Amino acid sequence: MKLLKKTEFGNPVLRKRSRKVSAKEMNEKSFIFLIKDMFFTMRKSKGVGLAAPQINKDLQLAVIEIKKNKLRPKVIPLAPEVIINPEITNHSKKITHDWEGCLSLTGVRGLVPRFSEVTVKYTDDTGKIKVKKLKGFQARVFQHEIDHLNGVLYVDRMKDMKSLITLNEFRKRSIKNEGLKSK
Ligand code: ZN
Repeated sequence: MKLLKKTEFGNPVLRKRSRKVSAKEMNEKSFIFLIKDMFFTMRKSKGVGLAAPQINKDLQLAVIEIKKNKLRPKVIPLAPEVIINPEITNHSKKITHDWEGCLSLTGVRGLVPRFSEVTVKYTDDTGKIKVKKLKGFQARVFQHEIDHLNGVLYVDRMKDMKSLITLNEFRKRSIKNEGLKSK
C-alpha cells in the first residue's frame, strides 16, 4: 500500500464535480488498489474520510472510517465504508453545527452547519447498492465527503468565518471543554 499525494485547497480538482464510476471500472484491479491506498492514506493522516479529488482523482469515490480519539471522544465509531456514486436522497429539516477539518487544509477547524440526519444511496466496493440512514457525526462525515465529489468545501458551508480556528486553538479549547459545544 502506498501513501497517496494529497491535493490542497486552491487546487482546481477540489472545485470540480467528479465523474461517475462505471460498473466496469469498479472491477478493475487498479480501482481495488486505489481504494486500499485511500484507506491507508486516510488512516496515516488520522482522517475520518477521504474523497478521490483529494488525491487528484476525478471519480465519485470516497472512503470513510470513524474511530474515537482525544479530539472526538463522543463519536459513534463507523466501520470502513467505501462510497461510490453517492447521493443524498433525503434529509432532516434540523441542522446541527459542529467542528470539521479537512485533509486538504490541515491545521484548521471550522464550525459547519449540516443536516442532522441524512439518507444516502451509494454503491459499495462489492458493487452492491446501499441505502443508509445516518445521524450525528456519521451524517456529518458523509455530507462532507459527498460535498467533495461535487466540488464543495466545508468553508463554503460555514456561516461565521470567525469560527475558523487553528488546530492548536481547537486543542486548547477542547482541553478546557469550552466553546466546542454544538450550537
Ligand atoms: Zn475534506
